[in-house]
Amino acid sequence: MTQPLFETICFVGIGLIGSSLARAVRKHGLARRIVTLDLSETARRTALELGVVDYATADAADAIKGAGLVVLGTPVGATEEVARAIGPHLEAGAIVTDVGSVKLAVIRDLVPHLPDGVHFVPGHPIAGTEHSGPENGFAELFEGRWCVVTPLSGGEQAATDKVIALWRGVGSMVEVMDPHHHDQVLAITSHLPHLIAYTIVGTANDLEGHLQQEVIKFSASGFRDFTRIAASDPVMWRDIFLNNREAVLEVIQRFTEDLTALQRAIRWGEGEVLLKHFSETRAIRRAIIDAKQA
Ligand code: NAP
Repeated sequence: MTQPLFETICFVGIGLIGSSLARAVRKHGLARRIVTLDLSETARRTALELGVVDYATADAADAIKGAGLVVLGTPVGATEEVARAIGPHLEAGAIVTDVGSVKLAVIRDLVPHLPDGVHFVPGHPIAGTEHSGPENGFAELFEGRWCVVTPLSGGEQAATDKVIALWRGVGSMVEVMDPHHHDQVLAITSHLPHLIAYTIVGTANDLEGHLQQEVIKFSASGFRDFTRIAASDPVMWRDIFLNNREAVLEVIQRFTEDLTALQRAIRWGEGEVLLKHFSETRAIRRAIIDAKQA
């Protein structure tokens, strides 16, 4: 092993993202010892059996002892509970980071519980799948993907640099961003698309029996892609919507206005309006492919 970035990393929550990062840390030799604090007995057992972690416990004091880096991989709605549990045990000089899909709420819920001398560097890997749990994680999840890091104003630069080095070490590209800006960007690129998928699949589910069967039979015509997104973890997504409320409500408002404009164009047979709109959106898809984020 080359000189690792950290002696011990503790993952609080060893689900899809936590276990993927733990695997990647192991693969790239970024820590000597990997520990998890997870309330789920099944998750702890699975992570140990798969060799994702060296030690697993539900005891916060036991897990946090000696950890130079603590990574929160729990649903964002659990942040305050986690902060209360780990806060008293964090050692001076330790770095805390997270992978939460929302940043302002995590900062709000975590910071009051951090002792002096502990550095918090929020982060969010823009990578994931619709699956949950340590059995679904994989070390390559972050390769070639962006990770957004949102340092606190006045935070220690050396701690930020170490968190950035961790993400680069697992193959990610890093973008440093203001947390408020992060929440607005993700509201449109991630949160609204998930809400639309949940809505469409819910609408199909409400349709009468025979129609419902045909929706499944002919799903390859577009519906199928929405069902994959709408199969995402319910707890995680409940927490995201409740914790990025303002930004999400703002983009829903904009989306509703734009949908109404398209509805009007269809009603009045304005083919030119539709053609112009669909041509512009096609260009966005090309840009995503060119940026290798498809
Ligand atoms: P996950 O697979 O459901 O894993 C979360 C783990 O945390 C579970 O084992 C859960 O146990 C445990 N947990 C819950 N509350 C806890 C607590 N108070 N203390 C200790 N452990 C606790 O979730 P995930 O998909 O990895 O998501 C984790 C975080 O990553 C979320 O904040 C999410 O916003 C973010 N994220 C997810 C994705 C994605 O695509 N999934 C992408 C980027 C970022 P139980 O199962 O018993 O609750």
